[in-house]
Amino acid sequence: MTLVQASPEFLKALEAELPAGTVADVTEGYLREERGLIRGNAACLLRPRNTAEVATIVRLCNQYRVGIIPYAGGTGLVGGQVADLNPAAIIVSVERMADVRKTDIANNTITVEAGVILADIQKTADDVDRLFPLSLASEGSCRIGGNLATNAGGTQVLRYGNARDLCLGLEAVLPDGSIYRGLTGLRKDNTGFDIRNLLVGSEGALGIITAATLKLYAKPKELATAMAVVPSPKAAVALLGQVQSGLDGLVSGFELIHGQGLDFLTETMPDVRQPFATRHEWMVLIEVAGGQGARLDARLMSVLEAAIENELVTDVLIAQNVQQAQEFWHVRESIPLANKAIGGISSHDISVPISALPAFIQAGFDAIAKLGNLRVNCFGHVGDGNLHYNVYPAKGHNRNDLMHMQPAIKTVIYDLVNEFGGSVSAEHGIGRLKMDDLETYSDPAKLATIRAIKRPLIPTVS
Ligand SMILES: Cc1cc2nc3c(=O)[nH]c(=O)nc-3n(C[C@H](O)[C@H](O)[C@H](O)COP(=O)(O)OP(=O)(O)OC[C@H]3O[C@@H](n4cnc5c(N)ncnc54)[C@H](O)[C@@H]3O)c2cc1C
Repeated sequence: MTLVQASPEFLKALEAELPAGTVADVTEGYLREERGLIRGNAACLLRPRNTAEVATIVRLCNQYRVGIIPYAGGTGLVGGQVADLNPAAIIVSVERMADVRKTDIANNTITVEAGVILADIQKTADDVDRLFPLSLASEGSCRIGGNLATNAGGTQVLRYGNARDLCLGLEAVLPDGSIYRGLTGLRKDNTGFDIRNLLVGSEGALGIITAATLKLYAKPKELATAMAVVPSPKAAVALLGQVQSGLDGLVSGFELIHGQGLDFLTETMPDVRQPFATRHEWMVLIEVAGGQGARLDARLMSVLEAAIENELVTDVLIAQNVQQAQEFWHVRESIPLANKAIGGISSHDISVPISALPAFIQAGFDAIAKLGNLRVNCFGHVGDGNLHYNVYPAKGHNRNDLMHMQPAIKTVIYDLVNEFGGSVSAEHGIGRLKMDDLETYSDPAKLATIRAIKRPLIPTVS
């Protein structure tokens, strides 16, 4: 289908079929992505209140051949929610679809509309003594529709999986305007193709998610949190194995922190309290979670003491209370903000098998050093093999003067990722910023399949 410009007749049809206030002018906030890399355009903004209204919008878009950009919290980091398309599409925001439809304690599920903010789902689960474990630094503003559309990851994937693993059922409006009603909450359902899993991670290209049934978990009654200094990424990976086996798989977070990230914090956010008085090149933030009486502090300490003896750890701090644990996490979660303040030349959300991480990190450092006087901040979810491998100008150099290096840096990193059997998008998706990379690094059969099943109404993934 060839898409066309939104005509006055189309806008009139929208106004006629939808309640007053649903069609609105697009304001600046919907046209800017987080890092200002793309400025979008759109014919108008649609803010439906329910699934039937979304279906009406999609049906009319089909009839008038107007493209759609689904929009949830607007925190996506690959520009999927912001598009400078010609002809301009319309933005369909699910922000006013924000009801919790049902909490089923016996089934351990919660059914929510696509516009519910992630932190509100966590809070609702907490209120009924359950855990919804999806956790991202953007959780105060991202919405579950966007989380599922991007198959978001975050800090708890190692224990609970990513957004896909946490979703049991979906409701969505498909590109022809029909409503897929799959809010089953079933843990076993082998009735043919899994539409839910196709929709999750499809970044809106296969339909607009309107509601989801999500898994809840028993709320951990004990948490232990530690910050450990490790001599190398290789030691960090070995330590992960030891903590997992020493604590019977109770690790819920295992984050690699690079000294460069803490230097950036010192430079741009000096008020953030740093854990160690002296500088270290590599650290890990460890969190273990378990039931009442699990004696996690003592068990974690004993594993870490053994690790000190084996020279996998050189210094360690165990949080003595909730506030200290929060301070450790605050350091980790402030790193992306410090990165942003420094201004990167090229950022890479990549994954490789956990076993390949140390060699990949070293190969990346060597390759970047050959390109010039640059700084690398390499940090992230080591327990998932997911790194944010970001490259910055050397101190005193201007980012704008070095932006011409961006393509070369990206190619070096992505070629290495490919060589190590990894992925050029671990958790942020493809959006618009990685469409060419999908083309370059994807398996050709996978690309052909994506093209075969994608419908052009929602012009996102290539
Ligand atoms: C500070 C910060 C930290 C972050 N940390 C992480 C992290 O740890 N892990 C991680 O995975 N991501 C992270 N992100 C990225 C971002 O928060 C996630 O990608 C998030 O899942 C996007 O949700 P959103 O509601 O903001 O979606 P949006 O940005 O609104 O949309 C994202 C994509 O989904 C599509 N979409 C939106 N709603 C729907 C819908 N209802 N149906 C179909 N398609 C839809 C959009 O068209 C777009 O392609 C971070 C971002 C920031 C700013």
